[in-house]
Amino acid sequence: MDYNIDIFSNYNGGDTMAIWKCANCGAIREGRCKPRKCAECGASDSFKKEEEKK
Ligand SMILES: [Zn+2]
Repeated sequence: MDYNIDIFSNYNGGDTMAIWKCANCGAIREGRCKPRKCAECGASDSFKKEEEKK
């Protein structure tokens, strides 16, 4: 499964969300950890961090 497990408490001791952008197709994802696979284009490990959201 390519599902990010969202743990809402005590993850890394922090609560920082980041914006991830797929370098291949430009899809945007939000999450605490880097998506492993792009749901839009299927590329693996194509996400780059765009910005951090607090
Ligand atoms: Zn993509």
